Amino acid sequence: MTLTVAIIGRPNVGKSTLFNRLVGKRVAIVDDMPGVTRDRREGDATLSDLSFRIIDTAGLENVHDSSLESRMREQTEAAFLEADVALMMIDARTGPTPVDEHFVQWLRRHKTPVILVANKCEGAAGQSGLLESYALGLGEPVPLSAEHGQGLVDLYNALRPYADLAKEQASWKRKQQQRTEILPNVDSGEEGDDDRILNRPIQLAVVGRPNVGKSTLINKLLGSERLLTGPEAGITRDAIMVPWTYKEREFNLVDTAGLRRRANVSGKIEALSGAETRRTIDFSQVVALVLDANDMLEKQDLTIARNIIEEGRALIIVVNKWDLITNSKEALNKLHDRMQTSLPQVRGIPVVTVSAKTGKNLDKILDAVLDVFEVWNRRVPTAKLNRWLEHILEHHQPPLISGRRIKIKYITQPKTRPPTFALFVSHAKGLPESYVRYMSNALREDFELWGVPLRVVVRKGK
Ligand code: GDP
Ligand code: GDP
Repeated sequence: MTLTVAIIGRPNVGKSTLFNRLVGKRVAIVDDMPGVTRDRREGDATLSDLSFRIIDTAGLENVHDSSLESRMREQTEAAFLEADVALMMIDARTGPTPVDEHFVQWLRRHKTPVILVANKCEGAAGQSGLLESYALGLGEPVPLSAEHGQGLVDLYNALRPYADLAKEQASWKRKQQQRTEILPNVDSGEEGDDDRILNRPIQLAVVGRPNVGKSTLINKLLGSERLLTGPEAGITRDAIMVPWTYKEREFNLVDTAGLRRRANVSGKIEALSGAETRRTIDFSQVVALVLDANDMLEKQDLTIARNIIEEGRALIIVVNKWDLITNSKEALNKLHDRMQTSLPQVRGIPVVTVSAKTGKNLDKILDAVLDVFEVWNRRVPTAKLNRWLEHILEHHQPPLISGRRIKIKYITQPKTRPPTFALFVSHAKGLPESYVRYMSNALREDFELWGVPLRVVVRKGK
C-alpha cells in the first residue's frame, strides 16, 4: 500500500500541471491523445525519494454535458475518499474565491487530511493571495509554482509525514491481515452464490512488465480485431470486458482503458502504469502474469505478483518467448527456485511455458486458468474440515502461551475466492503467527489448494 494523494480544486488552478510534473511523461502522452475521455487520471508520482499514487480530478471540466457537474462532484468525492491525503489547490494570483470556500466546506465534512496548496506563486503576483489563503482555515499554505517547479521542497516536507504513516500502516496491515479480515456470516447461504458465480464468465487479466509479449499474446489468443473493436470505454473509465469461449466456458478478458489504448496506438505508450495494473487486477478473478523467458521473476515481476496475491486473486505464471530457450530444464529449475524464495506465500502457482510468437502451448494457458479458478472457488465442507482438525491436533498441538494451551475448537470455511478459513480458539489473543502459518500450509497441502492465496483468520470461539 503506497500513499495515495488526490489533487482537488476548482478548474484552472493548475491541478493537471502539478499532476504532470509529478508523474512525468508517462501519463502526459495519454493526455495528448484526442478522444480519451476520463473523469480522473491516476499515476505513479515521484517527488525526490517519495513515491506515491496520485489522482487528478481534472479533465471533466472541458466536457460539456448537463449531468457532468454532478458526476464531477462524484468523481472528486471518490478520489478524495480513496486518498490518504488531499492537496487542495487554489490560485494564489486570484486569491481564495467563493468556489474555493465551497470546496473547503465540503472537505471539512470528511476525515481525509488536507494540505492547502497555493499555486502560481512564482514572482510577486501571488503574494497577497498567499496571505489571504490563511483565511480558508486549512493551516499554512504550501506556496507552489507547478509550472515553474518552484516550492516542491515545501510540498515534499508537507507530504513526508503522510508517506511515513502509510508505510507504517502497510506493514501493520500485512501482519494483521490474516486475523482481522471481516468475514461474512458462516451461515450466509453462500453456496448458492458459488453456483451463480461459477457459471458466470471468468474474469481474466493478462498483466506483466513492458515487452514481455502481452500484446502479442492477447492478440494471438483473441484475434487482434476483437481487441480493437471492443465496446467503448464509458465515461467512468470502467474496465472493458472482451468475451470469448473456451471449452464451453465463457471468459472475459479484462481490458482497462489503458490496455486498450495501448493496443490502439501500437506501442506509442510505453506500458501500463502501476496504478493501471492494479486497477486491472481489481477487476479480475484470475490473473495471468506474463514473464519473459530470458529474464524471469525480476523485481518488477515480483511486485506485480505480490500485488495479485495481496488482492486475493488466483494467479498463473505464463513464461513467454519459450522459443528462445535452449535448455528448458535448467530454465524451469531456475524459475521454481526463484518462486520458492521470492513468492513463498503461495505454493504451487501454475506455470505455463509458451511462445506467443509461434502460438505454441497457448491453449495450456486457458486450461491452467480453468484449474486455478476451480481451486479459488473450492469449498471444503465443515464436517470434513473438523475431522481434519482433529487429526492435525493429534500431531501438532498449538504451543503453550504463559503456561496455558490455547484450544482450537472449531474450523469453518466461511468464504471462497480466495479460500478463507476461520479458526475458533479459546483465547482472545489467538494463536501465534507461526502456528497459523503451519495450519495454512497444512490446509493447502491436504486439500490441494495449490496456486491460490489462502487466508486463515483466528477468532475467539464460543
Ligand atoms: P486544472 O484545471 O486545475 O487542471 O489546471 P491546469 O493545470 O490545466 O492549469 C490551468 C492554467 O494555469 C494553465 O494555463 C497552466 O499553464 C496555468 N498554470 C498552472 N500552474 C501554473 C503556475 O504555477 N503559474 C502560472 N502562472 N500558471 C500556471
Ligand atoms: P508487451 O509490451 O508485453 O505487450 O509486449 P509485446 O507484445 O509488444 O512484445 C514485445 C516484443 O517481444 C515484440 O518484439 C514481440 O515480437 C516479441 N515477442 C512477443 N512474444 C514473443 C515470443 O513468444 N517469442 C519471441 N521470440 N518474441 C516474442
